[in-house]
Amino acid sequence: MSGLELVNVTKRYGSIVAVDDAMLNVPAGSFVCLLGPSGCGKTTLMRIVAGLETPSAGDVRFDGEAIGDRPVHKRDFGMVFQSLALFPHLTVGENIAYPLKIRHRGKAEREARVAELLDMVRLPGVADRAVSQLSGGQRQRVAIARALAVSPKLFLLDEPLSALDAKLREAMQVELRQLQQRLGVTTIVVTHDQREAMTMADKIVVMKGGRILQMDRPIDIYRRPVDPFVADFLGQTNLLTASVEAGTVHVAGAPIPGLAVPAGRRTAEISVRPEDVSVRPEGEAPIAATVEFIRDMGSAVGDKVSLGLDPRSIVVFAEGGRA
Ligand code: ATP
Repeated sequence: MSGLELVNVTKRYGSIVAVDDAMLNVPAGSFVCLLGPSGCGKTTLMRIVAGLETPSAGDVRFDGEAIGDRPVHKRDFGMVFQSLALFPHLTVGENIAYPLKIRHRGKAEREARVAELLDMVRLPGVADRAVSQLSGGQRQRVAIARALAVSPKLFLLDEPLSALDAKLREAMQVELRQLQQRLGVTTIVVTHDQREAMTMADKIVVMKGGRILQMDRPIDIYRRPVDPFVADFLGQTNLLTASVEAGTVHVAGAPIPGLAVPAGRRTAEISVRPEDVSVRPEGEAPIAATVEFIRDMGSAVGDKVSLGLDPRSIVVFAEGGRA
């Protein structure tokens, strides 16, 4: 297969299992986000791909070749980490040209490439500036340009935008995605920000406790989460229990015709997205409710309303996963 493949990769630190039997396919040219709460193993997985950590078990393959024993500098991957690791005493141009210099590329080639890369990250003409004179967002772009200098086969970014303020961060998410599409470079980004992942990724990999729970397109993760954790981690949701009463499936005390739980079960956990709940006048929809708190204008606190659920929009989980 062309692209990156992890086969049963595990990483242990003493008794801690940081990555637990990970299977992952990142096809050539795609943009994948690793997403999950703090400590779930995202960075460890990324460091294994980069060659900065050796897996305790399993194989890392790139373009069909086992690369587990290949040292970092022979992988030809570009990396950007949260700290950026720019050299403060070098100019912008010298920073970007550094990977070319250690590969003994000539001065003219380096200068031409620096100019090309600065155009690419929309920072033309700043090659001679000191890194310390740049804003956070500009430094981010310099780090990206440096990582792309040698046209990497795989582009790895660990929380690259987390130091930026919300507005700049959103703009950079779009820019990063557009840049990746223009270059067609296979890219893996670690983030704990689900909106960031939804904005940028072709596929999102959701991790928890070292395990990969789901890898899918953002819309499929949102609409078809494999378990309640994934449902709750991406966007807002209501996790409820549906129960069979007198042969009909009930939610919040009301029958929901058309909703089914797995055969033989009396209850099942379900996920209902807020946008799939319709709020109607009292008595018009099956679930009786009282307004306790409002953020929007419209109804008043204490109003009696009723809630309707479209059974087709409800995700029903089997034990340990989706039904
Ligand atoms: P964050 O979002 O907080 O950066 P993460 O998902 O990237 O978290 P990792 O840094 O990969 O998580 O850590 C996964 C687990 O492995 C954690 O329990 C962490 O404490 C542990 N761990 C990571 N590196 C080491 C190490 N060098 N030695 C011992 N334990 C480690």
